[in-house]
Amino acid sequence: AILIEGVEKAFGATRVLKGVSLTLRQGEFMALVGPSGCGKTTLLRIVAGLESADAGRVVIGGRDVTRARPADRDIAMVFQNYALYPHLTVAQNLAVPLAMRRLSALERLPLVHRLVPGNAARRRAIAARVGEAAAMLRIAHLLDRRPGQLSGGQRQRVALGRALVREPAAFLMDEPLSNLDAELRAGTRQEIVDLHRRAGVTTIYVTHDQVEAMTMADRVAVMMEGEVLQLGTPREVYDDPCDIRVAGFLGSPR
Ligand code: ATP
Repeated sequence: AILIEGVEKAFGATRVLKGVSLTLRQGEFMALVGPSGCGKTTLLRIVAGLESADAGRVVIGGRDVTRARPADRDIAMVFQNYALYPHLTVAQNLAVPLAMRRLSALERLPLVHRLVPGNAARRRAIAARVGEAAAMLRIAHLLDRRPGQLSGGQRQRVALGRALVREPAAFLMDEPLSNLDAELRAGTRQEIVDLHRRAGVTTIYVTHDQVEAMTMADRVAVMMEGEVLQLGTPREVYDDPCDIRVAGFLGSPR
């Protein structure tokens, strides 16, 4: 479960988050939607620990992580620029988060080759977990390729796999499909939903795409100008928008 309580954030004189509170149940898939600039990414970055909040707190899996470093939050992130390591194979890309749980991304790279081969038992455990994640995402046949030899959709699946291998308490996704063309988007959307069903990880999914939010999420949080205006199932927010701005954004009949 994820608890976000009274989170505030300003950049200079601009108040970007004006006291946001959200509670996600264990295993829930919540879409966070709203127009460009309403603060979605900033909120996600605060949950991830990439940005600090001016006020409020974040609890993940029962632990107050408000002041914890990103590596200590038991989360996995998938962003639109799913930066894979270009010189590593798919299998190695999937192994990196397992091999280097606490080091920063930069520290990780030169070490992965040294640390993973160093210990046979650990290496076997990592290989087994990579195999499981690859099977779940149907990329087992791609494990020896490098990112440059993959399609956009395959790369995105590897990025999802890399997020999945650690079995995090929470997934944070920020417009993960926005670089894909329409057809691939629809397919990958379904894959993320299936993956969520199987893995059951509590997920916050940021998107400005209403269709994505409506078709994928258990509940939708509609954000405008730094506030959550409405929270409910896709049906509830679409059929009964609380505000003319929400109705306008979702295209609800009113
Ligand atoms: P989009 O859908 O376009 O990504 P968003 O809802 O994710 O938008 P944010 O990226 O959270 O919005 O940005 C919210 C506001 O905060 C914007 O006005 C943005 O310009 C501002 N902002 C974000 N990061 C910073 C920063 N590091 N310094 C100053 N202003 C920032």
